[in-house]
Amino acid sequence: MTDSAAEFEPPPTRIVLYPDPVLARPASPVTAFDDAVHALVERMIELMRGAEGVGLAAPQVGVSRRIFIAEPEPGPESVPVVFINPELELGGTLEPFEEGCLSIPEVRVMVRRPSVVKIRAFDLDGHAFELEDDDFPARVWQHEFDHLEGVLITDRMSPRDRLAHRKRLKGMREDFEDAGR
Ligand code: ZN
Repeated sequence: MTDSAAEFEPPPTRIVLYPDPVLARPASPVTAFDDAVHALVERMIELMRGAEGVGLAAPQVGVSRRIFIAEPEPGPESVPVVFINPELELGGTLEPFEEGCLSIPEVRVMVRRPSVVKIRAFDLDGHAFELEDDDFPARVWQHEFDHLEGVLITDRMSPRDRLAHRKRLKGMREDFEDAGR
C-alpha cells in the first residue's frame, strides 16, 4: 500500500467517535513522509488542541495510519511530538491510572499499564528517534499506541467500569447508528 495525498482527502474535519469501525481496526504503516502526512499531522494538532487533549492518533480522525501525536507535558508552551510507525518496549510495574479518550467523551476508566516505556519512532522527516519515560508521557504513548492497534480503553475496562459506563456506551452506539441512517 502506498501513501498519496488523495488518501487523506478530504482533510479530517472532526474527531471520530466510538464505535466507529476505524477505531477498532489496526492501522497500516506510513510508507512516504510527504506533504500529505505533514498536512494530516497539522490538522491533527489543531483538532487535538481544539478538544483540549494531550494525545491523538490518526485513526481518531478517520485515517487508518500508524501516526500519533502527544503533548510532552500539558500546558500552552507544549509542542506536540509526532510519532510515526512507533514501536514500544514496556517495562517497570503495572500501574493503575484513570484515562479518558477524545473518541469516548465523558467516559473515564481505570487502566493498568506498565510504568516504563521506551519508544522508537520516525519523525515527520522520516528520521528515527528514541525516547524513554516513566511518567505521564509513558501513559499517553501507550494509550495512543493502542489506537494504532485498534484497541480502546473500553477494551481494557474492569468489570466495574464496564457496568458504570454501560448506559453511556450504549447511548453512543445508538447515536452512531442513527447518524449512519
Ligand atoms: Zn484515545
